[in-house]
Amino acid sequence: MAKEYDPRMHSAEHILSGVLIRRYGCPRCFSTHINSNKSKVDFRFPHDLSAEDAASIAAEVNDIIKADLPIAAREMPREEAATRFNLTRLPESAGDTLRIVYVGDPDQPESVLDSCPCIGEHVARTSECGDFIWVSHEWKPGEEGQDGVLRIRFKLGK
Ligand SMILES: [Zn+2]
Repeated sequence: MAKEYDPRMHSAEHILSGVLIRRYGCPRCFSTHINSNKSKVDFRFPHDLSAEDAASIAAEVNDIIKADLPIAAREMPREEAATRFNLTRLPESAGDTLRIVYVGDPDQPESVLDSCPCIGEHVARTSECGDFIWVSHEWKPGEEGQDGVLRIRFKLGK
């Protein structure tokens, strides 16, 4: 695990991904640079975001942080996980049982914002992330026939 690894930042990345997926139906971020000071995440995304979109997404991320949802992990057979999640980026060596991480209570599926296979370290409750601060975003058009790339940079307050 990288020295700069920060469970708060990484957990905030789950929340941000969950909000974007719920709003836009985009795929989960494909690249992340998580740093204890500032992080950036890249999504395949068909268009740029307006300043209003950005403010509204940031507000929703902060609502989820303030809602103090649990972040829980459960084991799931790989076969079952394959029917629910995109496992193409998962190494074979991940084994037959995967660890699924939920933002929300896995026993109350309607409370779950986001779930995905993840071996990272997370905070126990979303409120531990602190304030989510949207630093900037940029969007680049994709190659022909491909969605563009949306990069979002964020920080967390203390
Ligand atoms: Zn994770």
